[in-house]
Amino acid sequence: MTRRVLKFGGTSVGDLDRIAHVAGLVEADAAEGGGRAVVVSAMAGETDRLIGLTRAIAADSRVDVADEYDAVVAVGEQVAAGLLAMALRARGLRARSWTGAQAGLITDGPHAAARIAAWDAGAVGAAVDGGEIAVVAGFQGATRDGRISTLGRGGSDVTAVALAAALGAERCDVYTDVDGVYTTDPRIEARARRLDRISYEEMLEMASLGAKVMQTRSIELAMAHKVPVRVLSSLAGPGDDNPGTLICEEDAIMEKRIVSGVAYARDEALVSVLGLPNDPDRLAGVFARLGDAGINLDMIVHGRARTPHAVNVAFSVGRADLDRALALIDGAKAELGFELTETRTDLSKVSVVGVGMRSHASVAKVMFGALAEKGVGVDAVTTSEIKISALIPDDHTELAVRALHAAYGLDAA
Ligand code: ADP
Ligand code: ASP
Ligand code: MG
Repeated sequence: MTRRVLKFGGTSVGDLDRIAHVAGLVEADAAEGGGRAVVVSAMAGETDRLIGLTRAIAADSRVDVADEYDAVVAVGEQVAAGLLAMALRARGLRARSWTGAQAGLITDGPHAAARIAAWDAGAVGAAVDGGEIAVVAGFQGATRDGRISTLGRGGSDVTAVALAAALGAERCDVYTDVDGVYTTDPRIEARARRLDRISYEEMLEMASLGAKVMQTRSIELAMAHKVPVRVLSSLAGPGDDNPGTLICEEDAIMEKRIVSGVAYARDEALVSVLGLPNDPDRLAGVFARLGDAGINLDMIVHGRARTPHAVNVAFSVGRADLDRALALIDGAKAELGFELTETRTDLSKVSVVGVGMRSHASVAKVMFGALAEKGVGVDAVTTSEIKISALIPDDHTELAVRALHAAYGLDAA
């Protein structure tokens, strides 16, 4: 029997009316035949509220409460799953809610940022094949010793794609508050266009560079297991024209374009280590300390210092990692022998993404030309085969996103 997984995000199940609306969408989809599993997020704002409660009671960061944090925040998804199952039954459908653990999702890794280790979806699969709609709480699972765990913010996307893979589903439909993946965040640029299709690779870059429409790890999973993912609107009515965006293999995309999208991420920080002796061991020492502490670096700028035999090296990190990174480097000042560190926290990152870049030389020219024309200064740059990112002052984020969107011809006509 064909199976399909549907996922609804927080805004889509934000109140009881929306949940009733979602039940109508699920009913219409199920009427096409085959088994249906539905993954839900917590009602909008609920996860933030629950996190706030844990912060209020566990203000002392020396006390380890990570496992209880998971026990608290996982509740949001359970509420939404139970309510949606009720709304489906109210329509005369057979439906039951499942917690992540009941659905067979086993995790490992740290609490609050667990990874999926295995998914024994046999029971869910049997239920959906028997015609019951399985409403699964996203974001949560259980450790091997049976404790509740959570997958990190935005984790319901991961649950949905992983369940689709475990069930061998034909597709994972991600219903959200926009009607697809856009050329950039439609909240910033009203001229952004919905893409009919986007490749896994491009979506992975867009997500990791800040486009929060899909959580990064969910796209890694979709790519690894070849799960077609469709992003579409939960605001449309059942039966409305709602094609969304298909995230799929690159060769299934006919439209040829150089740049597919522009992404941005706020909360970037740059640490400069100035006057480091020009010696490969010292340079290695800087990055060894950061790497050993599990701190992810993004951009690295390396150049000569004004004093002879010294270099300046700067690296960017997420603002959440800044204090730790700085403490590690400053703590090793004597061994590393640099003069001083400087930090900047008023930065964000804008990126252009597109598989067409592989074969086009002018992408950087257009990018830096557009930023220069708007007077946007660039503090660091990084590239991969299919993206270029620039670190810029954060008060220029919107300006830069719109300028790049226009420069690559992405604006809607
Ligand atoms: P959900 O609660 O359904 O998981 P999210 O808030 O996580 O929804 O993601 C949807 C939001 O992602 C949109 O409201 C939009 O503002 C934002 N977004 C950022 N970049 C893009 C993009 N390129 N295309 C579509 N939406 C985007
Ligand atoms: N409710 C969780 C969050 O807000 C998971 C999700 O919505 O995907 O991060
Ligand atoms: Mg989301």
